[in-house]
Amino acid sequence: MILSLPTLPANAQANLDAIHERITKAARAAGRDSSSVRLLAVAKTFPATAIAEAAQAGQRAFGENYVQEAVAKMDELANAAPSYDLEWHFIGPIQSNKTRQIAERFDWVQSVDRIKIAERLSEHRPVHLPPLNMLLQVNVSGEASKAGVLPDDLPQLASDVAGLPRVRLRGLMAIPAPESEVARQRIAFANTKRLFEQLRAQLHLHSGGSQVDVLSIGMSADLEAAIAEGSTMVRVGTAIFGARARRS
Ligand SMILES: *Cc1c(COP(=O)(O)O)cnc(C)c1O
Repeated sequence: MILSLPTLPANAQANLDAIHERITKAARAAGRDSSSVRLLAVAKTFPATAIAEAAQAGQRAFGENYVQEAVAKMDELANAAPSYDLEWHFIGPIQSNKTRQIAERFDWVQSVDRIKIAERLSEHRPVHLPPLNMLLQVNVSGEASKAGVLPDDLPQLASDVAGLPRVRLRGLMAIPAPESEVARQRIAFANTKRLFEQLRAQLHLHSGGSQVDVLSIGMSADLEAAIAEGSTMVRVGTAIFGARARRS
């Protein structure tokens, strides 16, 4: 009798190799060094075992969208052997009652779009940890329903965040509206890159050259276009872990 087997887990090593290949090719085409683009593995909805498998394959930075889910996986991995030295990025919408856990458990937060949240994260960042690395999420397509600060409001938010004691403003993150044509993907990413350069100029002038060095753009479907326009961090989920089940 033939039993119906569950879907086999994705092969993390092979998928990561394929992503690194795509990054290398895209960087080369843009005349860039592939080491200038970091890979963030987005693990939302996938279990700790999938993260462990990717870590085994050499992946170190992981992105999560839901605090409760992320913390459960961190605890599971902390108790596992071997233990991995992982870097955790929060990339989902931030509710103000979750800022303490984010500030205590994550190394980076990429989805900050208002000063209230940034202030709470700074306040809650434990003193025994280094300042929390922070990216501002920008609503680059200007969609009314989308998360992210509007481009016009970015300079004020950036200057307010740059003054907070326990966070370090490192750059921008954006999720442009999905486009199937590469030419159209590139327009939105080029706009984000322009905002990034303006941010660098602004903070260089006003805080003596703080380190604004991360442009987090590009996902599974559009990382080539993002790298062509200057991405320094691509956030890849599906192409590493497989398709996500719909959240109930
Ligand atoms: C889910 C998610 C990703 C990964 O998307 P894929 O298309 O699966 O690569 C990247 N960034 C953010 C903010 C996400 O929520």
